[in-house]
Amino acid sequence: MKFKSTRGNVGKIGFIDAFMMGLGDDGGLLVPDEIPVVSTETLEKWRELSYQELALAIFELYMNGEIPEQDLKKLVYDSYATFRDPAVTPVRKLKDDLYLLELFHGPTFAFKDIALQFMGQLYTYVAKQQNKQIHILGATSGDTGASAIEGVKGKEGIKICILHPHGKVSKVQELQMTTVQDDNVLNLSVDGNFDDCQRMIKELFADLDFKASNHLAAINSINFVRIMAQTVYYFYAYFQVAKQTGAKQVSFSVPTGNFGDIFAGYLAKRMGLPVGKLILATNENNILERFVLEGVYKPGDFRSTYSPSMDIQVASNFERYLYYVQGEDAAQIRTLMEQFKTAGEIVIAGETLAKVQQEFGAHGVQGQECLDTIKHYDTVSGYLLDPHSACGVAAADKYSSGQEIIVSLATAHPAKFNEAIKLIDIEQQFPEQISALFEKPQRQTRVDGSLQSVVRELVAFY
Ligand SMILES: *Cc1c(COP(=O)(O)O)cnc(C)c1O
Repeated sequence: MKFKSTRGNVGKIGFIDAFMMGLGDDGGLLVPDEIPVVSTETLEKWRELSYQELALAIFELYMNGEIPEQDLKKLVYDSYATFRDPAVTPVRKLKDDLYLLELFHGPTFAFKDIALQFMGQLYTYVAKQQNKQIHILGATSGDTGASAIEGVKGKEGIKICILHPHGKVSKVQELQMTTVQDDNVLNLSVDGNFDDCQRMIKELFADLDFKASNHLAAINSINFVRIMAQTVYYFYAYFQVAKQTGAKQVSFSVPTGNFGDIFAGYLAKRMGLPVGKLILATNENNILERFVLEGVYKPGDFRSTYSPSMDIQVASNFERYLYYVQGEDAAQIRTLMEQFKTAGEIVIAGETLAKVQQEFGAHGVQGQECLDTIKHYDTVSGYLLDPHSACGVAAADKYSSGQEIIVSLATAHPAKFNEAIKLIDIEQQFPEQISALFEKPQRQTRVDGSLQSVVRELVAFY
C-alpha cells in the first residue's frame, strides 16, 4: 500500500512517510493509492475480534509491515489501555432502531482520543526509531488539542503547539489543554475562530522550508492516520449491532465539523462494510448540509453554537471526499480547489450530486432543536447526550424510516459541555478527572490572529 495526494503531485510514498508528511507537499491531502477491500469471509472473521485486535487487522492493511508486528501490537494495546471501558467504544441501545456508539471513554472524554492516543504512541515510536525531533503543530476547536497534548506530554523528542480560538472553546476543553504543566507543550490562544487557526496551520505546512526546518508534524485530520484509526469503530459498531439484532446493514449518523469522522465512515464503506446512508449532522455552521442538499460548497458566516467543536466552516477533509466522488481525478481537484480559492465556492450538479445524495443524508441542527433533543432523551431514556452527540441523534431521528438501524456517534461526554446542559436545568455529576481540572493552574499564551505572531511564538518555542 502506497499513498498519493488528491492533487496528484506527491510521488507514491509509504505509510510512515505519509504519517510524517501530514498535509501533502503539493497542498493536497494524502489518500491510499488503492482502497483495500475486505472480503465477506474476512468480515465474518472480524466479527469476533476485540477492539484492539480489529484495529491491528485494519492498520496492517495500510501499514505494509513498515512496523514489526510485535511493536505495532504494543503501540495499539498501549493506545487503548487508558480507556475506561473494556470495549473501548461500546454500543448502547437508545430505541429499537437507534443505537449510540460511545466514543468518549478515552482520557479526554471525546472521540478524538481514539485516533490521537494511537498517533501519540506512533510519533513517540518514530522519534525514537529515527532519532528525530518531532514538533507537532495543530489547530483545535477544543477536543483535538486536549487529546493530542494528553498523548505526547512529557515525551522525549517531541514538542507540541496547539492553536485554539480564544474564548470559543468550552471551559473544560480549555482547562484540559492549559493545565498541563510539561515544558514540551505550548498553547496559543488565538484571537479569531477555528477556521482562522486551521488556515494558519495549513499555510505553515504548505511552506515546505518552514515545515522542514522546524520538523513540523500534523495531528489534525489532514493526517491520514487519523482517518485510518477512526475507521475501526465503524466496523466494531456494525459487528456489535449485527450480533444483537441480526441486521445485515446499518446507517450511521455523524456529528460533523471538519468532515474527518464521517470520511472515516465513507472509507469503511468503500472497504466493504455494509453501510446504508451516512447521515451528516451539523449545527448552524451548515456548509456541509447545503453541499449535500444543493451541491454548493460555500462558507457562510461563522456562528458560535452549543456544539463548539463543530463550529467550522471550511472542512479540511472535504477535499478527500471530493476526490473520490469526482472519480479520483487529481487534475480536476486542482482546478476545483483553485476555483474555491478565487471564487469562494465549489458547485457540483447532475450525476455527481445524485451520487452524493445517494450516499449521504444531511441535517443542520438548530440551537433549540439541539437542546430539545438533549432534554427529550434525558427524560424518555434517562440518557444525557452532549450537544454534539445530540446533533447526531436529531439528524438520525429526522432520517429514521424504521426500516434500518441507525448508529449515531456519541462524540463527547456531556461534562465537557456543561454550558449547554445548564441551559436545560439539568444538573450533571462531573467525572472526578474533570472536576479536578478546576483546581489546577493554567498555562497559555494569547496571540493576535496574525501569522507573524504565531510564527514568532513557534520559533521561540522550538
Ligand atoms: C471534532 C469533533 C466533532 C467533529 O468531527 P470532524 O471529524 O471534525 O467532523 C464532533 N464532535 C466532537 C465532540 C468533536 O470533538
